[in-house]
Parts: sequence; structure tokens; C-alpha cells
Amino acid sequence: MTTVHTRAKRRAVGTTREHLEQELVSNLYYQRGTTTQSASSYDAYYTLALTVRDRLVDRYARTTAAHYAANPRFLYYLSAEYMLGRQLTQNMLSTDTEEPLAAIVSELGLSLDELARYDVEPGLGNGGLGRLAACLLDALATSDIPAVGYGIRYEFGIFKQAFTDGGGQLERPDDWAFYGNPWEFAAPDDRQLVGFYGTTEPVEDDPTGLRRRWIPGEVVRGEPSHMLVPGYGTQTVNIIRLWQARASRQSFNLERFSAGEYVEAVEDIVRSENISKVLYPDDSTEPGRELRLKQQYFLVSCSLRDIIRRYHLRNSRWDGLADKVVIQLNDTHPVMAVAELMRLLVDEHGVAWEQAWSITRRTFAYTCHTLMPEALETWPTDLVQRLLPRHMEIIYAINHFFLDEVRHRYPGDTEKVRRLSIVQEEPVRSVRMAHLATVGSFAVNGVAELHSRLLADTTLTDFAQLWPDRFHNVTNGVSPRRFLRLANPRLSALITAELGDDRWLTDLERLEGLTAVTEHPALLDRWRSVKRRNKAALAVYAAQATGVVLDPDAMCDVMIKRFHAYKRQLLKILHVVTLFNRIHADPDADRVPRSFVVAGKAAPGYHAMKRLMRLVNAVAATVNADPVVSRHLRVVFLPDYNVTRAELIVPAADLSEQISLAGTEASGTGNMKLALNGALTIGTLDGANIEIRDRVGADNFFLFGLDAGEAAAVRAEGCSPRRHYENDEELRAAVDAIAGGVFSHGDRAEFADIVHVMLTYDEYLALADYRSYVDCQDAVDAAWCDTERWTRMSVVNTARCGFFSADRTVRDYRERIWRVDPVPVSPQD
Ligand SMILES: *Cc1c(COP(=O)(O)O)cnc(C)c1O
Repeated sequence: MTTVHTRAKRRAVGTTREHLEQELVSNLYYQRGTTTQSASSYDAYYTLALTVRDRLVDRYARTTAAHYAANPRFLYYLSAEYMLGRQLTQNMLSTDTEEPLAAIVSELGLSLDELARYDVEPGLGNGGLGRLAACLLDALATSDIPAVGYGIRYEFGIFKQAFTDGGGQLERPDDWAFYGNPWEFAAPDDRQLVGFYGTTEPVEDDPTGLRRRWIPGEVVRGEPSHMLVPGYGTQTVNIIRLWQARASRQSFNLERFSAGEYVEAVEDIVRSENISKVLYPDDSTEPGRELRLKQQYFLVSCSLRDIIRRYHLRNSRWDGLADKVVIQLNDTHPVMAVAELMRLLVDEHGVAWEQAWSITRRTFAYTCHTLMPEALETWPTDLVQRLLPRHMEIIYAINHFFLDEVRHRYPGDTEKVRRLSIVQEEPVRSVRMAHLATVGSFAVNGVAELHSRLLADTTLTDFAQLWPDRFHNVTNGVSPRRFLRLANPRLSALITAELGDDRWLTDLERLEGLTAVTEHPALLDRWRSVKRRNKAALAVYAAQATGVVLDPDAMCDVMIKRFHAYKRQLLKILHVVTLFNRIHADPDADRVPRSFVVAGKAAPGYHAMKRLMRLVNAVAATVNADPVVSRHLRVVFLPDYNVTRAELIVPAADLSEQISLAGTEASGTGNMKLALNGALTIGTLDGANIEIRDRVGADNFFLFGLDAGEAAAVRAEGCSPRRHYENDEELRAAVDAIAGGVFSHGDRAEFADIVHVMLTYDEYLALADYRSYVDCQDAVDAAWCDTERWTRMSVVNTARCGFFSADRTVRDYRERIWRVDPVPVSPQD
């Protein structure tokens, strides 16, 4: 055994060119089953991936051994989404194999870049929330924190976005693992069984009546696989464990199959396996909603059982659980975990209710990601009752004890009780997941200072009054490895050269040292030339993806994020149309050339945003085809925004559009990625924009618009979009151009809905902020004309944004909430 282990280690450890070469050949032969003569370039990619992976496996084994020996407190991260990005580049970076592999590959007449294109990004998330989860896992491993991420292995990830001829969003299924995923290890021994439906009954020996037996009507198997999450500059390799639903063995009906009823024979299999089929099934139908809740419970149940299994490897007493385990709930999707842990402890393991509740309450912490009351998840009690009858009973019991506590605190205040209750009565009797989370956790956090404050003042204010110590802020952060080093190798090289070493990669506040660059014209030139080369690379991609030609010398103005009304892509389009009108009115005036790059997906059922996408594409087509306008302005809508695309766009950006209505964006992380890459922000006082501005200084940030207080006041008294339309000539001209068919070949009906909604409701006050925004954009143009000054501002943005590292976010979580300590993993002896 020892010799096998040692031999295996010796085989996997080498990172010299000879080692790697030998192993590539061996992996190609034994793992891919082919030879250098007949291998395809996909074989070459796959073999490359396996060879890099081998180096992580050894570290993972040592990490596991170190964790076993130390028996530390573990952080478990539960999230419905992970936006991991490509694995190959990240894993080459952390194993320091990029250089030798590039040399080997080029000798074979291939290029690393080409092979990396085969690496499929696992699209297991929608946007910011999922990418945050990935950045935190990266930072956790880099900080040597024992941690496991739990999620669902969706068979189809987030859809691939294309555009119809009319410029609308077309969704295509993303079968990301169809050709196999070299980064994944199946772990069938750790499978779990998950129940649904059925009935509950009393147990004989429980006088309290709080323990009951659940007899599920359906049982599904959860099969885990894991992917390795390496730390940078350290030996730690953590994992992310993903669950896939499989029908239990009895589900295949051989009798019906033999009788020729082929479809009926596999009905149960299909139903079970649908659970992990897609990310966020459409919830506009009843079966869709049920499937979503099923998915949530599936994740929670598999993960908690796995956490308990792991706990029992080294520990036995239940009352020690909360000392060894902290579970972070990423938004409300995994919040059923509160009821499930109670069920596991009380019903399955015979722990007394009181003790179980004390353990539960000391184990969970909850991150809230929204402010909008309508975005706070609720589930009708009817549905919960049917799908998870035992959990419904447990939630009622938790609520009962909780509301007793509330009545005791606020005697006679029935309004308070109604507002705090985990169960709401109107309009439909439902479970408020954010309330269940808050009651069942020892800590609740928002994700930026403003957000945490508003959370405590508005959305969860009754809870914040009840338990002020439970509320925290932890401002989001992004991985410097992913979003600087991998995304922007040119800027990274410049930074390392300037700072003298690359310690900034794990200690991002060191970027502060770059301020010296602002004093040296030669360095400013280099800074500018890095940006220009990144823009040229983006232009190559944009031309190939859309046919639109971008000028690398034009200002690269980017808005990349999910399409949502509150993020206000509409406001940006009004600006673009305004520029279009101005150029037509005075074609010969001097102008700052701009390329506007937009990217983002909309939820498939979000019709207003899909209409807006048609407008964006229509404006782009009109602008780019106009011989006069296109001399000054180009617009490109890059399809299928994802992490890989972000890594291409972010380094090229000069201007970062962060223009959500103040008080609506919880934090944003795109704003951080862009500022770190030297883009200047034009933004509102919203989310983490405020903290970015505090750090880079008001002079290096383009601020516009209402603040959160003013926006709330305007919305309360009823905004009057029509008044802005009537009083602002440029705004009127922009709206009239859209309404009048300028971008729809004269068809006035095409965008009539957009115009109508904008002039009647304008829920997110795009019209109210229009003037301030357009004037601010004029100030941006003026600043751009002073090239030296702009470059200095760009450097300052990078230099001062070290705070927004996910490493700092993890440190804050550790100090304020998790109380987990690093466990160093010793290097190979
Ligand atoms: C960072 C990121 C986001 C979040 O962007 P915001 O501007 O903060 O909304 C969304 N999607 C992807 C792919 C990202 O990388």
C-alpha cells in the first residue's frame, strides 16, 4: 500500500518538462486510449487536463490528511449556484505548469490557447450570486480554510444565449458535460437517499409529540461528484461537491417494458432525474414551482447528510456539532436546511427538540442578497405540505416557539407578531424563507455597507430590532487570481514588474504601491498600451462573434451584467440614442469616439427585458450601419455572457457602467472586477459603488443620480416620467426616436410597449436620472480628452481597490461570523 502510494506520488509530483511530457504521453495512452499518431486535438486537450489534474490530486490527498489529523471546524457553503469559469487555466496557474506545458504543446504544433477553448465553463449559475460563491471558494482554499462547497450538478447549466433575426434572446440548452468533464470525480459511495411527498405519523415513545416519523411517497438517489478547488500559493485543495439526482433502482419498470410500454416503463426514472436537469426551472407553472422546491430540498438533504457523515468520521457527540460545523446559506434557496437539520436530529437521531434547536441555531449563518421585498422567496404552505409534509410540521413548530418569544418580548403587539411570523397569511398562506433563515441562524449578513444598513432598516427591520447583534455586513469581493492574473496577464505582468514581486496576488492591498506609477509618464504609457492591446484582443473577438468592428483607440464603454429593470440597461440605451441624435444634428463636431459593449442574459420568462434586448440590438444595427454615426460610435451586444466572456471584456474596459437605481443593487461584483482592471466607474450611490468611490476618491469616479433616500422619496410620492419627458428636450428626442421607428425601419409598433411602460410607470426612475446621467457622461468625455489624466485615474482605480479581494471578504466572514482557522497543508516531502 505504502509503496503504491509513494509510487503514485512520485509519478504525479513532477512539474519539470520531462515529467510532464512523460505523463502526457502516458495519460494519452492509458486514459484516453489513443496514441500520438491518432489523437485529435480534443484528445490533446483532455490529456492536458488530466495531467494538470493529477498534480492537484496529490495536494488534495495531503489536504484531506491534514484535515483529518487536525479535526478542525469546517465551513460548509450551500449554494444553488456556482459560476466556476474554466478550470484548465486556473489549475495550470495554481500548479505552476503553464510555462512547461505551453512549450510542450507548441512543439507538437498546437497552442495552449486553442486547447483551452475546449475547456467548457460549467454554467451552474445565473450571475453575481453564483460567481461570488466561486470567488469565495477560491479565496477559502487560498487562505487554507477547511471548506466544502455544496451545489447541484445541473445536467443543463444556464442556457446559451443567441439572438433571433429580430434581435431577441434565443435560449439554447447547455449540455456542458456531454463530452465528459475531466475535472470531476464521481463518488458513488457517498450517495444519499432523499424522500419527497408521503405522510407522517406519531412515534410511540415520544410524549412531547415533537418527534414524528415521515413515510415518503417517493425516494430519489443523490449521487455526488466533486471538483477540486486549489488555493493559490498554497498546498490546500478543497472540493466542491455537486449532487445529481438518479432514480432509485426500483424505478425501472421491467414488467411494463416487457409489455412494450417503453415510455411508461421509464416514467419514474424521468421524474426523479428531472430534479437536477436544469438550473431554476421556469416557475410560471405549478409543476415548475414544485420542481424548484424539490431541487432546493434535494440539495439541502444530500448536503446535510454528507456534512453529518463527515462530522462522524472524527466526532461522536451531537452537542459538538456546532463547534465543528458552520454552514453558510447563500441566499434563501438552501434555507430548507434549517428544517431538515431539525428533522435529521430529532426524528432520525433522537436528539431532544430543545437541544436540536440549540445546535441548529448555532450552526447556520445566512447571507441575504436582495432588498426588494418581491424578490424574497416564499413557498405556499399547500405545496410545502404536499412535497415535504414533515418539514411543514417542523416549520410550524419552530414558528410557534419563535412567536411565543416575540409575544413575550412585545406583549399585545399582534402587528409585530404578524410581521415577524415565518408564515404569512396574505395573499396566500406561505412560508417566508428569509424569516426561516433569520430565525434559524446565528448570523445574517448583507453584502455591501449600504445593503446591510438598508436590510436592517427596511427589509428585515423587525428582526434587526429583535436581535441587533445577529446582523453584520460583509462586503463582497472578487478573486484576484481569476479577474486579474488569469483575465489580464498583461496588466498582471506590469503590476508585478512595478511592485517587484507578485505577492499582490494573495495580498491585494499591495496594489497601493502602484500609485507611484502615476508620477512616471513612461509607466503611464505602458499602462495605456496594455489597455490598448486588451481592447485590440476584444475587437478581434467581437468582429468574429458579431461582425462589428471596434476601434481599439475609442473609449471602451462596457455594461456587462444580467438584464434586469433595476440595473437600468434602458438608461444606457437612452444615452446611446442621445449620442446618435447629437451626431446627426451636428455631424462635423469633434467627438470622443466610443465603443459601447453590452453583454448579459435575461431570465427566459422576463419578457420586458427580452423586448429591451431587441431594442439594444436594433440600436446597435442602426448605429453601426450609419455612415456618419459609426465614425464616432459603435455598439456591440456580445452574446452569451459568462465568466469566460467576462475575462475577455473586463481587461479591455475604459468605462464601467454601474447605473442601477440607488437602493436596488445589493453589492455588485462586476463593478469591482472592472475597477481593479483600471476602468473608471460611472455609477450611482448604490451597492458597493459607494465603497469603491470612498476608496478611489470622488475625483476618480463619475457619480450621478438620486441617492437611495431620494429615490425612495420620489417613488413614494409617485414618479412622473412624463414630466421629465416633457421638460427635457434631449430626452424627448431620444424617446421619440425609439417610438417613431428610427431603429425599427419606421415600424412604430415594434417598441411601443417599451415606450409606454417607460412613460407611464418607469419603476426604476430611468427618466428621473436621465439628465444627471447624460451630463455626467459629458464629463466622462471631457476627462477622456486629457489622456494623461485619464490614465492616472485608471491607475488609481487599480491601486486603491485591493480591498475588494475575495481574500478580504473571507477574512471578514471568518472574524465576524465563521470563526474558522486555517489548517496549513505541508508541501510534498
Ligand atoms: C461578475 C459577474 C456577474 C455579476 O455582475 P454584476 O455587474 O455585479 O451584476 C455576473 N455574471 C458573470 C459571468 C460575472 O462574472
